[in-house]
Amino acid sequence: MTLILRYGAVLVLVLTLAGMGCSSDKAASAKEPAPEQSSTPASSAVRVSAQPAGPAMHVDAARAMQYTKEIVAFGPRWDGSKAIDKVRAYIKGKLNGAQVEEDAFVAETSIGKVPMRNIIAKFPGSRDGVIVIGSHYETNYWLRDTKFVGANDGATTSALLLAIADQLRGKKLEGYSIWLAFLDGEESMTREWNSNDALWGSRHLAKKWQDDGTSKKVKAFLLADMIGDADLDIGRDENSTPWLEDLVLKAASSLGYQSHFFQTVTTVEDDHLPFARAGMPVADIIDLDYGYNNSYHHTTQDTVDKLSVESLKISGDVILETIRLVNGMGDNQPSSQPKKLT
Ligand SMILES: [Zn+2]
Repeated sequence: MTLILRYGAVLVLVLTLAGMGCSSDKAASAKEPAPEQSSTPASSAVRVSAQPAGPAMHVDAARAMQYTKEIVAFGPRWDGSKAIDKVRAYIKGKLNGAQVEEDAFVAETSIGKVPMRNIIAKFPGSRDGVIVIGSHYETNYWLRDTKFVGANDGATTSALLLAIADQLRGKKLEGYSIWLAFLDGEESMTREWNSNDALWGSRHLAKKWQDDGTSKKVKAFLLADMIGDADLDIGRDENSTPWLEDLVLKAASSLGYQSHFFQTVTTVEDDHLPFARAGMPVADIIDLDYGYNNSYHHTTQDTVDKLSVESLKISGDVILETIRLVNGMGDNQPSSQPKKLT
C-alpha cells in the first residue's frame, strides 16, 4: 500500500508500505486533513438543502455485533473456501421475509476461475427509485493460510446490513425502495492491490444494472466498509459523489456524530467505483485508519475485540438518516460526479 499524506497542497511525506502486512484492498492514494472541516464546524460545509423524509430509523447495534461474531465464527471465508458457502447460507437465512436475488457468476481471476455470488435483498418502497446499501462479505484469498477473519473488513458491515434488514422487514417504506447488496470478491486476489483482479462482485453487478437499466433508478449507492472500528474515523472520499457525501455529513451532524466524520480526506478504490462509473451517485463510508497507522488492516489483528457496539450504532444510524435525506431530496438530485474517479 502506498499512502500519501498531504497537508493542504504541500506534499510532505510519502510512505511506501509495500511488502508489509497491510497491503490494501483499498488503495488510499491520498489522505489529508479536511481543511474546510478542521477549523469550522462540520455542518457548515454542507451545501445541500434536503430535509429528512419519513420516520426515523435506528439499527439494533447490539444485534449487529452479535451477527458480526456469528460471521467471524465461520472462520476465514475466502472465495473457494467451505466457510464462504456457509456464510452465504447464513446471510440468506437471516434475510427471511425479504425478496432475495442472487447474482452468480464465474470470475476469471489471476488464480483461475472462481465462482462468486452477490446476494441482493430488496425491500420495496412507494416511489420509483432505489437506494442501495452495499458491503462485501468475503475475506482475502491471499490470507487464506492465516487466521484472518476480517471482523471489521467484511464481517461487521455485512452484519450491519443484516441488522438494517431487521429494521426494514415488514415495513411499508414511504420513500424509495431499499436494496441491500452483499457483494462478493471485493478483495484483490493477490497481496498487491490490483483493481483488475479485485472488485469482482461490484463490477459484475454494476454492469448488470447498467445493461438492464436498473442503474438509472438508483438514487444513491451507499457503501459500508470497515466501520465497526471502536476508534471510528470515517474519511471524506474524493472518489465519491460530493453531494451524497454532503448528505452523509449532514446526517451525521444532525445525529451529533460529526466528530467521527470527514476529519480527513481520502481517495479510495473500493466497491463503489464500478457503480460510479456506471453513472450512479455513490458514497464510500469507510474508516481507513484501523489501529495505529492502519496496522490492523489485513492482519490477524482484525478481530471482534477491536470493534464496538457504539461504532455500529453510529454507522448504521447515519446510513439510515442519509436514506431519509435522499428521500427528502426526491428527484432534485445534482448531476455532479466524483471530483476524482481513479
Ligand atoms: Zn480488505
